[in-house]
Amino acid sequence: MDRLFDLHAHPSLKMYYLPYLTRTFHAALAQERFWNPLNFQTQYGNLKGSPVRAICCAHYVIESKFLASGIKQLGRTLAWALAPAHYSRMRKADPWVTLQGMMETLEDAIANTNRRVKAGEKRLRLATRFADLQGLTGDEIAVMHAIEGAHALGDRAPGVSREAFWEQTKLRLAELKQRGVCMIGLSHFFDNEFAPQIDSTEIIPKVKDGHVVAVRDDQFFEMKRATWTWGDPEHLSEEFARECLRLGIVLDLVHVQEHARWKVYELCAQAGRPVVLSHNGLQHFFNHEYNLSDAEVLRIRELGGVIGLILCKRWLLSPEECHNSGADGLHDLIEVMRYVRDLTGDVSVIGIGTDFDGLTHPFTDCCKPDELGRLAYHMRKHFTPREIDDILWGNSLRVFERGWV
Ligand SMILES: [Zn+2]
Ligand SMILES: [Zn+2]
Repeated sequence: MDRLFDLHAHPSLKMYYLPYLTRTFHAALAQERFWNPLNFQTQYGNLKGSPVRAICCAHYVIESKFLASGIKQLGRTLAWALAPAHYSRMRKADPWVTLQGMMETLEDAIANTNRRVKAGEKRLRLATRFADLQGLTGDEIAVMHAIEGAHALGDRAPGVSREAFWEQTKLRLAELKQRGVCMIGLSHFFDNEFAPQIDSTEIIPKVKDGHVVAVRDDQFFEMKRATWTWGDPEHLSEEFARECLRLGIVLDLVHVQEHARWKVYELCAQAGRPVVLSHNGLQHFFNHEYNLSDAEVLRIRELGGVIGLILCKRWLLSPEECHNSGADGLHDLIEVMRYVRDLTGDVSVIGIGTDFDGLTHPFTDCCKPDELGRLAYHMRKHFTPREIDDILWGNSLRVFERGWV
């Protein structure tokens, strides 16, 4: 029986922000095989027959800076037209309050979904500590609170001292731990007080004068790269990372600048904790700071960590490769896995982070959870049953056993 641990998906993003979805995983939305941010890939109908047995639900509090300047004019016009009251409320919202709202939404949705589950169908189970994952039965899907972007913990207001802000942050981290948060992604699309982010604007191929060139896909969205470096005295980078490790919250370094990722690997080594990169590709295939160098892959493996390979060709392959191939992606994903096995000698660092219900473009041959069985099917040509189970399930479970303590 295939089982899959999804290190990164966004059900609460959809349930919280899309005005037509209510607090339940039950929905009756069709799924197109192309990019449509209004879809609901992780709806119950797509989960119940899928190999997914555990999902890290990344709560992404949309940054006010993103709403004000990251969404370009076209997107803003659409947002105002579709949901004006909602959009204006979002722009003024306190991120910490929004985060609580998203966590409540997820918890309510799990309860509401289970109320409508028929006999013999799978139930959702909120997992708030590692023992919940261990105790999972065959007819349950574990759902965990995770956070994408430490900006959700709030910004330092003008006039607030570094010390006072750090006290507030420590209390908030303790609260999140109490509530069962398993993992925090330090950075996302815009500046925060804790970790410098890369520019996550996607890069796409464009034909200019008969040549394929790489350009930023900023028609709808534009992200910003941080101009400060890890250790900057005005920020709380090292304190924040150390406190998460102390509390037993796993660190996710996706969207974090490369120099800062290396600093955190060092902190993880000191603390004896694994690290997660929850939805990434490799620089070997697409040389972008979002992706991981070979040296990093080896380092993450050494730390006992895991890389959730993303189901999105725009990060798995270079713009040129994307231009010269179709929209299917499973074979490309498997090629990346094979490269990692050759590089590291085994499969222990490989995992999956689908980014379903994020803003990424799906594979046409695997655009929703109940198509993930296809991945396992095609992996059989190259991997042993043991390797497949480690990649899809065991490696991520191991990381949470050692990191979510
Ligand atoms: Zn992301
Ligand atoms: Zn995400």
